[in-house]
Amino acid sequence: MPSYRDYHRRSLADRDAFWREKAALIDWQTPFTSVLDYSRPPFAKWFVGGRTNLCHNAVDRHLAARADQAALVYLSTETGQESRYTYRELHAEVNRFAAVLKSLSVGHGDRVLVYMPMIPEAVFAMLACARIGAIHSVVFGGFAAASLATRIDDAKPKVMVTSDAGMRGGKAVPYKHLVDEACRLAQHPPHKVVICNRGLDPAMTKVAGRDLDYAELRAQHMNAQVPVEWLESSEPSYILYTSGTTGKPKGVQRDTGGYAVALATSMRDIFCVAPGETMFTTSDIGWVVGHSYIIYGPLINGSTTIMYEGLPIRPDPAIWWKIVADHNVKTMFSSPTAIRVLKKQDPAFMRKYDHSTLKYLFLAGEPLDEPTARWVSDSLGGVAIIDNYWQTESGWPILSAHLGVEETPRKFGSPSFAAAGYDVRLLHETTGEEVAAGEKGVLTIVPPLPPGCMTTVWGDDERFVKTYFGTFRDRPVYSTFDWATCDADGYYFVLGRTDDVINVAGHRLGTREIEEAVQAHAGIAEVAVVGVADSLKGQIPVAFAVVKDPARVATPEGIAAMRKEVMDTVDRELGAIGRPGAVHFVAMLPKTRSGKLLRRSIQALAEGRDPGDLTTIEDPGALEQIRAALAIRP
Ligand code: ATP
Ligand code: MG
Repeated sequence: MPSYRDYHRRSLADRDAFWREKAALIDWQTPFTSVLDYSRPPFAKWFVGGRTNLCHNAVDRHLAARADQAALVYLSTETGQESRYTYRELHAEVNRFAAVLKSLSVGHGDRVLVYMPMIPEAVFAMLACARIGAIHSVVFGGFAAASLATRIDDAKPKVMVTSDAGMRGGKAVPYKHLVDEACRLAQHPPHKVVICNRGLDPAMTKVAGRDLDYAELRAQHMNAQVPVEWLESSEPSYILYTSGTTGKPKGVQRDTGGYAVALATSMRDIFCVAPGETMFTTSDIGWVVGHSYIIYGPLINGSTTIMYEGLPIRPDPAIWWKIVADHNVKTMFSSPTAIRVLKKQDPAFMRKYDHSTLKYLFLAGEPLDEPTARWVSDSLGGVAIIDNYWQTESGWPILSAHLGVEETPRKFGSPSFAAAGYDVRLLHETTGEEVAAGEKGVLTIVPPLPPGCMTTVWGDDERFVKTYFGTFRDRPVYSTFDWATCDADGYYFVLGRTDDVINVAGHRLGTREIEEAVQAHAGIAEVAVVGVADSLKGQIPVAFAVVKDPARVATPEGIAAMRKEVMDTVDRELGAIGRPGAVHFVAMLPKTRSGKLLRRSIQALAEGRDPGDLTTIEDPGALEQIRAALAIRP
């Protein structure tokens, strides 16, 4: 076993040999002729000339050895549905869906927009697209009609796959009328809309000639055998939009061969899941984590994946641990936001079930603050908590511990080290020089980007180059637009987004650092800190906090006392320079549907400006809370 350092060094210094070995983790119909073509920087083509297929690798190739093993276990605490598909059954369902798509004349290179709740048919649809060489564009179910329409026009899909409704917290969330509205708004609506009818919305109406019922179509293709379309490695597999935390979402285009190899590599070296073992990722198929670690990663690896429709606290806050116990889950993947939800509940739920099979809990999507990391680590005693950092753009972790390579110690607050092929450098924002250990720099990647990363912005090569490689004039490096430091031991610490830095009387502070300091107060469940323009100091930090026990801030005296405690905590943890000019208490914070804080909108409101594009917001009521809090003087 090499050390992590040797492993990573080799992935860069002996790049071709390293990735040639990793490429053997998947099946190729035609072998590639070269590992990398980087003749047109910054566009990287991996495994040139090789032909492969994501669906073949995720499904067909496991039929020989594990046809009767569970591939997909579906659990919904919303509808009570539970189903289990072996690889053999998954293969049959994917072939049926592929035959349906083909009957609608979807072929190689055509786009299919998938706007679906968390139901197995969504997985079948995505794998069916991959099988026939069509490009899926999954749009998070429940996005408003306007957001959906923009994505329809960007991808120009031939067919859309949807459902009558999603379910959330026990209530049906009708989708179909949003689809109809989006098709009206769009310039390039799909010709056909395939509906997987769950029977949740009796009021659903159909558009004659356009809308088709999946159950009826499926019944016509029960024994379908649809041959796999072998794609050249660089051909696109899918389009997926970034979360839209910082503005207009970008359409990330993913390749085929590089993605499969990267996922296979990460399943072993990072996520430590062997074929036959079970992974439970709590994300949604509408996000990159869902694409990579609910669907493609575990299936390409021959593992069992759990797809869960439901909240982490229904029917009670122990539901995840029940799933772990019932299905012998070895590795879980979730988000810090979700863990903070559990942190507000009775800790006894964390111990209600025997979770001894669980070895790893991976968390990504937002900074994992130290108190939350410690809390979950203590509550789940014996489970390794692994912060990992990445983006929709990268498709798989950029930074993570690699316990499948070496059992390195973790440091709270750090996603450890760079993944294979990532030449990570922290650059000074103005000089572009590498910063010293402990100094803050922009987290960048020296191209070529490794396999699995975005190959371009869908339909817009120029935007890809300008957006991601245009930050440093003399250095064409990929910018993540995140700040980080690296300590003397080589551990990275992500400090937040480059536009989340505030300037207080000439001192530059990351809002994340202040949030961490506020979170050190045991009574705080969650907090957002933004910089608000101030004529004297430039900017002052303003905090919006959610307290664990709302009774503590139910009276003006309670609010004043809590506010003082929070400020004292920041003084102690960070110093008076970081002390918020105001601390507001709210019942919830505005977040994107993928659980990320919309700091920009909060900041706009705090400065009396328009909160901007809110199409990706989870609950507009949260903004009302911010408005109301601001109306009451601190
Ligand atoms: P947009 O790019 O459209 O504004 P977004 O950046 O929120 O949206 P994603 O690709 O879903 O879209 O999120 C990636 C970002 O999430 C990272 O750039 C980083 O800011 C944050 N992030 C992800 N994982 C971590 C982590 N482990 N620690 C800190 N931040 C993280
Ligand atoms: Mg981003």
